[in-house]
Amino acid sequence: MIISKKCKQHIDSCRFCWMCHHICPIGNATGHERSTARARALGISLVNRGAIELKEIMDNIYECCTCGACNHDCTTGWDPVMFTKEVRLQAALENELPDYINKLVDNCLNCGNAYAKSDISKNLSEKIKNHSNKTDTLLLLGVDARFILPDQAQKAIKVLENAGVLFTVLEDEKPTGWQLDFLIGTTEETKQQMSECAKTLDEFKTIVVYDPNDSKTIKQTFGEYGVKTKAKVVTYTTFLAYLVDNGKLKSKNKDKTVVFQDPYQLSRDLEETDESRKVISSFATLHEMLLNKGETVWAGNILMSQYLPEVIKEVSKRRLYNVKSIGERTVVTASVSEYFALKQVKQNEIEILSIEDLILGKEAD
Ligand code: SF4
Ligand code: SF4
Repeated sequence: MIISKKCKQHIDSCRFCWMCHHICPIGNATGHERSTARARALGISLVNRGAIELKEIMDNIYECCTCGACNHDCTTGWDPVMFTKEVRLQAALENELPDYINKLVDNCLNCGNAYAKSDISKNLSEKIKNHSNKTDTLLLLGVDARFILPDQAQKAIKVLENAGVLFTVLEDEKPTGWQLDFLIGTTEETKQQMSECAKTLDEFKTIVVYDPNDSKTIKQTFGEYGVKTKAKVVTYTTFLAYLVDNGKLKSKNKDKTVVFQDPYQLSRDLEETDESRKVISSFATLHEMLLNKGETVWAGNILMSQYLPEVIKEVSKRRLYNVKSIGERTVVTASVSEYFALKQVKQNEIEILSIEDLILGKEAD
């Protein structure tokens, strides 16, 4: 396996370190040391030294959700996400991907999403048709909302409608490439998907990005691939905060007390923490979650649920336990994927609301 000198340095620094093992959401969910950053580094270094074969560590390479909690915690600045993604790329180039990953990659290449979906729900399609006229502002829904949680996509649209925003939603939205970037990293195919998406974004002045995975990809990862867009890109939560500031989103009541589940893509990668809080505080009394903002703990997602469903359920269950353990009863999400994952847990003690649910109140039902 060809691994860059830079990554080798990070791998050799992590492989005997134990300092961040306690904050890995996957390691905590499986209870296995092997799921954490340092054990992954040890496995890769054994492949580098020819002691084991690459295929022996591939399941472990795909256990990492790339949430970056380890990087964030690392006082010496080593980067397990970087070397994990480089091994994914090498495995793709050496034809060593596990079958379950190959299938998701093929789906991304053939259908534009890992779930092999081509049709969106009738209700969402009708909603989108109401916004087919070209305006300056595009609401980018993303593959998770469009294909897996169309009700949430409709609510995202409804919130902007209620605020009187003029916006467009595309019937044939291009994927941003975040799923391919997660699955196989910096391949030509990933860059091509990003470039095609950027071309469609360039037709608008402002892009409001609903899914934090897409926000991170367009605002940060595009640049790493040398892909550019001329449009102004704002996260959905930043746009909502702007609407609150301008009196276009008005609080109806503040009966609820809630905590907020920071999506790591916003709070760690884009360092956006205040905007969601501004919005939530206008519609509820906001308390802080155990481990919040940059220290947030990932609560699961849809993509990894495709191949590690039980582990992801445990990840989500543990995050709900964090809510319960500080005596809170309602958690608000700003990530459609985390909303999905938390809702998968069978429980009735904690109410799970999206930020749109909170804003719409009874209208969301
Ligand atoms: S990321 Fe830092 S804290 Fe974590 S294993 Fe590597 S060197 Fe240790
Ligand atoms: S990126 Fe997240 S899931 Fe991956 S090793 Fe680090 S803490 Fe664990």
